[in-house]
Amino acid sequence: MKIIIIGGVAGGATAAARLRRLDEKAEIILFEKDEYVSYANCGLPYHIGGSIQERDELFLQTPEGFKSRFEIDVRVKSEVIAINIERKSVAVRDLKTGTEYEEEYDKLVISTGAKPIKPPISGIENKNIFSLRNVPDMDRIKSFVTEKNAKSAVIVGAGFIGVEMAENLKELGVSVTIVEQADQVMGIVDYPMAAMVHQYLRSRKINLLLKEKITAFDPDGEAVVVKTESQKSIPADMVILSIGVTPESDLAKEAELEIGSLGGIKVNDYMQTSNVDVYAVGDAVEVRNLITGKPALIPLAGPANKQARAAADNIIMGNKRVYKGTIGTSIAKVFDMTVASAGASERLLSQEGIVYKTSISHAGSHAGYYPGALPLTVKINFSPEGKLLGAQVVGFDGVDKRIDLLAQVIRNGGTIYDLQEIEHAYAPPFSSAKDPVNMAGFIAENILTGRVKIIQWDDLWKVDPEAMILDVRTKEEFEFGHIENAINIPLDELRGRLSEIPTHLPVYLYCAVGLRGYTASRILLQHGYTAIYNLSGGYKTYSCVLQDQRTIAGDSIIECDFFPVIRDDGEIKIEPAKKIVVDACGLQCPGPIRELKKNYDGLSVGEQLTIKVTDQAFGQDLNAWCNMVGAKLIDMDQSGGVISATVEKTEAKSLSIPTQGNSMKGSDTKTLIVFSDDLDKALATFVIANGMLAAGKKVSIFFTFWGLSVIKQQNKANVEKDFISKMFGMMLPSHSRKLGLSKINMMGAGSKMMRSVMKDKHIDSLEDLMRQAIEGGAELIACSMSMDVMGIKKEELVEGITIGGVATYLERAEQSNINLFI
Ligand code: FAD
Repeated sequence: MKIIIIGGVAGGATAAARLRRLDEKAEIILFEKDEYVSYANCGLPYHIGGSIQERDELFLQTPEGFKSRFEIDVRVKSEVIAINIERKSVAVRDLKTGTEYEEEYDKLVISTGAKPIKPPISGIENKNIFSLRNVPDMDRIKSFVTEKNAKSAVIVGAGFIGVEMAENLKELGVSVTIVEQADQVMGIVDYPMAAMVHQYLRSRKINLLLKEKITAFDPDGEAVVVKTESQKSIPADMVILSIGVTPESDLAKEAELEIGSLGGIKVNDYMQTSNVDVYAVGDAVEVRNLITGKPALIPLAGPANKQARAAADNIIMGNKRVYKGTIGTSIAKVFDMTVASAGASERLLSQEGIVYKTSISHAGSHAGYYPGALPLTVKINFSPEGKLLGAQVVGFDGVDKRIDLLAQVIRNGGTIYDLQEIEHAYAPPFSSAKDPVNMAGFIAENILTGRVKIIQWDDLWKVDPEAMILDVRTKEEFEFGHIENAINIPLDELRGRLSEIPTHLPVYLYCAVGLRGYTASRILLQHGYTAIYNLSGGYKTYSCVLQDQRTIAGDSIIECDFFPVIRDDGEIKIEPAKKIVVDACGLQCPGPIRELKKNYDGLSVGEQLTIKVTDQAFGQDLNAWCNMVGAKLIDMDQSGGVISATVEKTEAKSLSIPTQGNSMKGSDTKTLIVFSDDLDKALATFVIANGMLAAGKKVSIFFTFWGLSVIKQQNKANVEKDFISKMFGMMLPSHSRKLGLSKINMMGAGSKMMRSVMKDKHIDSLEDLMRQAIEGGAELIACSMSMDVMGIKKEELVEGITIGGVATYLERAEQSNINLFI
């Protein structure tokens, strides 16, 4: 048998190898119009960015390898220009010589793939505009970036390839703007999931322009200006077009093979075209979408490979192997984030008129009590009968295994009840006893059985304005941000405050992620309330979708080289004599800076230390800290939610002594006056003071009037007091543990809550912060005049306090360029 294959990459190369394994005697000829065959096009963006360093790694097989191992005749630079169905032959143009010839076949496999869409926009042929389909495209992009020293790029289209290219160009130090016509990136996931990607891309300093249509590419010297319908002009050194692909089905069409309504080659369950001797696979064909049952274009490598194997089997063994269809399971890396999807999105379900329900749940990648758990969000779409129709997962760790579990349930026609039954491998570093996929099933069951009624973020705007929006998070969480007009009744107070909740109006509940909201709704439903709705995905989803989704660069591109690596002044990194690694993961501000300072002090000039931190605000603080102390920031990287920064010790920064008229420059001293006895203000005092100490500053804190309570000893000293002093003593907090909050103190319950929240979040207590300040060299001065007035004795104060008057304070303040009154 003589078999001809058109196209030599994913589908074509797989079909060729499988054919040979099944039939040693067949004559197999593979035509490929490009120079290369059997390479990993999925790896192309990563060679551009440098993650795959060796170009050769991309090639899985060469024409010579095909010959020696498989006895396959691979003809590269050979374009099939026509298929003659009658004569069972193909016309081939040899692109090296320009000659044309005909080759007959018994069976033909078409695996011509899909080509990037190139819309007829003015200036689209500009030499600085690229698309990425194959190795030559990759080479062109990579050499353009290096040879032209490209500094800025516009990526048109935010599908998987667009977003992957954004990451990889950024890795090369190129400033990237993504321009997308839709209101979201990665159209195969639903909006709330995409919103998380938007926020993350913004945090990685990718300019993101959504709902923006390109109208022209205007040349501008060596660069190009991208014009949009909303009159934006974005100058860029290069443009990557990634607005999708269209099946390469022209050959088939001209040969009068049947073409489907979406433009792909029509095949049956055996991957056979309308002609019995011609099979077609991969991006060029329409396959059955297993959710809708309708034809679909799903240009993915996995399906292409499986279709090729099925086609080869059917050619050799007769039509026996059925290719059932696909659910489009896909995954993409977006810097440290992973975005994955399987089955149908809400958009597809709505388009097809399929009734569905949806639910979002936020969880950790593994048990929260084991260090390093990172956020993971699962969204499922399911039928009112419980059939799982689609699933999406976004997170930083363990996304791949969750989407694979979900995909298998969808592919097997399973339900949300099957999700509950999934038996997964569990130990704290890997998962939770109830894995996020189990949880998604439990939540869906609660919805279907009516145990909880949910409301989606976009329906909350449509509710009766009289209705109650009830926030059941803690007061602290509420104060940090809440939905407009929401009333806060923390979950733990709910049973005692039912009278505040109207029975005749709907109540829309929410918490951080949905779990406390669910518990609250169960409480209310069992107390006779009926119109109770829990916000799916909680405040996390709501606030994420309501934030600005775009990074607006206006007419110019924002320079943004903060992530992922900062190299200081381009010098070659000198290997340090001694390298210390400081693990400050889990510490909150100012803990990491304090740890940094402590270890930095022990270095000699030229030595380096690396600090690992999970507090995401650290990056900003570090730059400022380095500026202040004169440390050299060697590099900073972010991986898996952990910031890793290396600094080198330099000669201590010489600080000018303040002189008249220049008193605000370079002073080494800071002063704070603490007048208040509020816990929160005392905390602020010591957080700031420790930060100042960590920056190498001298700090004096002057405690006066009510502020003296902050520095009272916990063990009551045995001192003689007169009546008035005793009265003061009774009315004032006896030591720091008795301090109340300036707001929502609630007879001391507020301060207890604050301390408990701080403990949970691994933030140091006031007493620890105070101890650290004293150990760090802060000078604590008690106002002698106030002590006298209030009858407070030195023995009542913590050890190491200086007693001083206004003059002491003034003397310190004179030398200081920051003087805070708290
Ligand atoms: P292709 O692999 O594109 O091969 C078609 C070949 O046919 C081409 O080499 C073409 O030159 C040749 N050809 C066309 N017409 C002729 C002709 N007339 N004569 C001779 N030769 C011809 N999928 C995933 O699942 N995961 C990913 O992460 C992923 N990442 C990707 C990243 C990039 C940059 C790209 C471009 C694609 C990615 N894909 C990914 C998609 C995946 O690569 C495709 O789905 C898959 O390669 C399709 O296989 P195919 O054989 O149909 O087409």
